[in-house]
Amino acid sequence: MYGQNSDSNGTPELNASINNITFTKLSGNTGNDVNTSHRLKVVSSFFPIGEFVKKIGGNLIDSSLLIPVGIEPHDFEPTIKQIQNVSSADVLIYNGLGMESWIDKMSVPHKIDASSGLKVLYSDKNNKTIDPHVWLDPVLAQKEVENIRDGLIKIDPTNRDYYMNNSLHLLNNLDGIDREVKTDLLSCKKKDFISFHNAFSYFAKRYGLNQHSISNTPEDETTPQHLAEIINTAKSLHLNIIYAEELIDPRYASVIADEIPNGKVLVLSPIEGLTKSEQASGIGYLDKMQQNVKNLLQGLQCNQSSSRL
Ligand SMILES: [Zn+2]
Repeated sequence: MYGQNSDSNGTPELNASINNITFTKLSGNTGNDVNTSHRLKVVSSFFPIGEFVKKIGGNLIDSSLLIPVGIEPHDFEPTIKQIQNVSSADVLIYNGLGMESWIDKMSVPHKIDASSGLKVLYSDKNNKTIDPHVWLDPVLAQKEVENIRDGLIKIDPTNRDYYMNNSLHLLNNLDGIDREVKTDLLSCKKKDFISFHNAFSYFAKRYGLNQHSISNTPEDETTPQHLAEIINTAKSLHLNIIYAEELIDPRYASVIADEIPNGKVLVLSPIEGLTKSEQASGIGYLDKMQQNVKNLLQGLQCNQSSSRL
């Protein structure tokens, strides 16, 4: 593991790409018309789940994140204090699919598995390891929103209409991203992209793209042989954008970019957390999705003039 919990390790290009984004705030129902005197105490496992939960639960819940937003969640292990904090909550909401290996340690009155019922992909050739990154596919993210909504309604049926109304806003936003990605991709010359870790299989499958990744998980050390393979892939497919992540040292992406013509590093976020500066600016999951699409359109050599981004 390297580069964890750092927000100042980008290349100039990478930092410039972050700084040049204009983030759009998306509206949601803040629920001023409901009784908030008995708020459910809800803990979400990590960033995207917490974002969904806050928008659906609004003023009816007291929302917190178990994994701080600047921490890469793949290799997270909760402390005893964090386990105790969760035990004082009413509800723990998590992504599932193996992302939270510690979930069985948690004792809490209600748990909601956001990915329940989803058709999964595997991240290995032997179909033994489930790929957990469903939140990066806007269509599967909608299913997670519905699972969270339905779970909250089951626990707190009196406020069904409030949860339904709030989730409708979020579902519409996710539907909008899905439709825009489909439209934007029509103008692209490429279908292949090189991500840092193997997080975009669901996204790639949804939109008919091919993901090549530098690493299987953020904490994996890649081999020189694999780096050479990725450089050859980039050269043979004439790809010049190599993607890095905001919470991980971009050195591997930079090494590859240095070896290919006009090579450049941009961020393609697995949306597993935020840097401290992103957190301070108040950006959310939907902003990060939009930033990803914008950077992906560059790598896929698309005509961005028709895009709202
Ligand atoms: Zn991941």
